Amino acid sequence: MDNQLCDFVDSGQGLDNPFEIVEELKRGFSRFLSGQSDHPHATEARRHQLIGGQHPQVALLACSDSRVPVEVIFDAGFGDLFVIRNAGNTNTFGSAGSIEYAVLDLNVKVLLIMSHQNCGAVKAAYLKDQNFSQSLTELVLDIKTGLASHGVDINNQSTYADACIKNANITARSLMETSAPIREAVKSKKLLIQPAYLQIDPMSIQWMDPFFGD
Ligand SMILES: [Zn+2]
Repeated sequence: MDNQLCDFVDSGQGLDNPFEIVEELKRGFSRFLSGQSDHPHATEARRHQLIGGQHPQVALLACSDSRVPVEVIFDAGFGDLFVIRNAGNTNTFGSAGSIEYAVLDLNVKVLLIMSHQNCGAVKAAYLKDQNFSQSLTELVLDIKTGLASHGVDINNQSTYADACIKNANITARSLMETSAPIREAVKSKKLLIQPAYLQIDPMSIQWMDPFFGD
């Protein structure tokens, strides 16, 4: 294991510049893709070091989908990533509140929002006459609202693949619209929001324009 490569996520001793932190995430992903994962920060010593508190520099909102194992693909370990996952990496009270905690209390500098190929939650927004449970209905409604606000026609199946790509940006914008703490953190450059899209096969990540400053 090369500790130099994964210092960005190490408790408070890492990088300050959010763009450099994103570059470190990209390096972790490259290690994974090339079969060179370091599997950092997995030792008993690391867990012992962290028991007094966590100081991750990255919060990550991803889909719950089992094909999106975030620590694996970014080659990260204990104490590295503050992870929020739900179906469709959606802006819900739960995800917004968790991100606000990460920003305000943990002072994370980067929020990565990652959508993915063939997202079932995005697909659910296209289904007609579906009888979902009450909570799932709410979640799918949030996704539908987001898609509609970005001009995605959910009555047209051919927009689905593109909707999966757009879904990261949709959630980023929605979080900034609905959460004053997140919006202010981005405006004052305390937080960089990095939307990204994970293609699962063949695996690649499309990194979109970040939100940082006005
Ligand atoms: Zn998904």
